[in-house]
Amino acid sequence: MTSPTLELVAYDDAVRRYDPVIGIEVHVELGTKTKMFCAAEVAYGGEPNSQVTPVSLGLPGALPVLNGTAVEHAIKIGLALNCTIAESCRFARKNYFYPDVPKNFQTSQYDEPIAYDGWLDVELEDGTIVRVEIERAHMEEDAGKNTHVGGATGRIHGAEYSLVDYNRAGIPLVEIVTRPITGVGDRAPEVARAYVQTLRDIFRALDVSEARMERGNVRADVNLSLRPSPDSPLGTRTETKNVNSFRSVERAVRFEISRQAGVLDAGQKVIQETRHWHEDTGVTTSGRVKSDAEDYRYFPEPDLVPVAPSREWVEEIRATLPEMPVARRNRLQAEWGYADAEMRDVVNAGALDLIEATVAAGTSAAGARKWWMGELARRAKQDDQTLEDLTVTPAQISALQALVDSGRINDKLARQVLEGVLAGEGDPEDIVVSRGLEVVSDDGPLLAAIDDALAAQPDIAAKVQGGNLGPVGAIIGAVMKATRGQADAGRVRELVLERIGQ
Ligand code: MN
Repeated sequence: MTSPTLELVAYDDAVRRYDPVIGIEVHVELGTKTKMFCAAEVAYGGEPNSQVTPVSLGLPGALPVLNGTAVEHAIKIGLALNCTIAESCRFARKNYFYPDVPKNFQTSQYDEPIAYDGWLDVELEDGTIVRVEIERAHMEEDAGKNTHVGGATGRIHGAEYSLVDYNRAGIPLVEIVTRPITGVGDRAPEVARAYVQTLRDIFRALDVSEARMERGNVRADVNLSLRPSPDSPLGTRTETKNVNSFRSVERAVRFEISRQAGVLDAGQKVIQETRHWHEDTGVTTSGRVKSDAEDYRYFPEPDLVPVAPSREWVEEIRATLPEMPVARRNRLQAEWGYADAEMRDVVNAGALDLIEATVAAGTSAAGARKWWMGELARRAKQDDQTLEDLTVTPAQISALQALVDSGRINDKLARQVLEGVLAGEGDPEDIVVSRGLEVVSDDGPLLAAIDDALAAQPDIAAKVQGGNLGPVGAIIGAVMKATRGQADAGRVRELVLERIGQ
């Protein structure tokens, strides 16, 4: 069933007349060595069906064995999201028939999630903090991957045949479900994006997943509904499945707001359904109709014992939690003395880790920021790269700044040294030597260059000698040129004036 095509309502108009409510489900693949319930390897990009066991293929009689590291990771995530960790919880069978789940059920958790009742503070670009309530974080296994061949869309409709790869089947997942996020109004798309981005940062900080969106390590399902006003009951929601970039999360929410406003304006009802996100066209289309009564016939998994993490273990895990990204950012900002806007730019440019490492190597926070947000940001942009991609390390930037601070090179020479580093010529020290870029600190060669310049421009020399200091810049310029920028201009000026008796 597809809904009729209706006019989209302009976004600003839609959020003026309707109150959007979002809800987000995020699946994160855990970076364990082996799968959730068997010893098949977890690795990206293997030959199809090369990382499987009888358990991940759902063969008759194969019995699951729970991966302890996956449970530890799930507890870490729960604690980082300020959740209560269950004293005891069970797995459940979520029954459905589809070839990506060879057992005909997904082993998941239903009414007994390992973590529940948490929250996460999310910082928007302008510094506003939005608290997102977490309903639950539960453990489950990933499904296999279907490839539909022969159709125009890559979807099953119109395909000639389908292939299935079970390498992904059984990879441990944690699914994190928010409560309805209300009161964010026209910022709903931005909040959705910032929430997923913050979660990604947390997964990486916890070292529980590589959390690479482009590999599908983190996948978001975005629920959205509209209501006439914040006092009204919640409207009917749609669930846009498997949105896998931050930008798409934001765009999908924005699109659904415009689309649902069009449906409601036409006096129709929003259909409760899943929807597909189309990255290329920026629209969602109808998937399958989903009612709350959808019957997965959940029942407790009889082949696994309940998981009952001891309070001691939970506290041990809590003690190992690293500093969370927002806390770290606030601490570094205070240590570095950056203004709010400077810090935001640094974070948005992906320069936080690089600057931290540069400062750790001995450079001032201001000096580190100057390089990474200035010359290097410019270079990265020009080459369409990220700062991380540049072939220069924080240690090299620190060494470069140290050469400037010691007076051995000036800012202009430093940029030439940086050229050399980026071109793979070695460390800054090597390049200063190999390219002969040191500031000329010996007066001898400077005096020789000054004499040459004075001899070449006798009229200017005469004026300066006569007390008119205006044209002295031309002599200094000639000396700087002759020494290829390696002279200290202040010292040259002193020497010129001395030389002509001023
Ligand atoms: Mn799930």
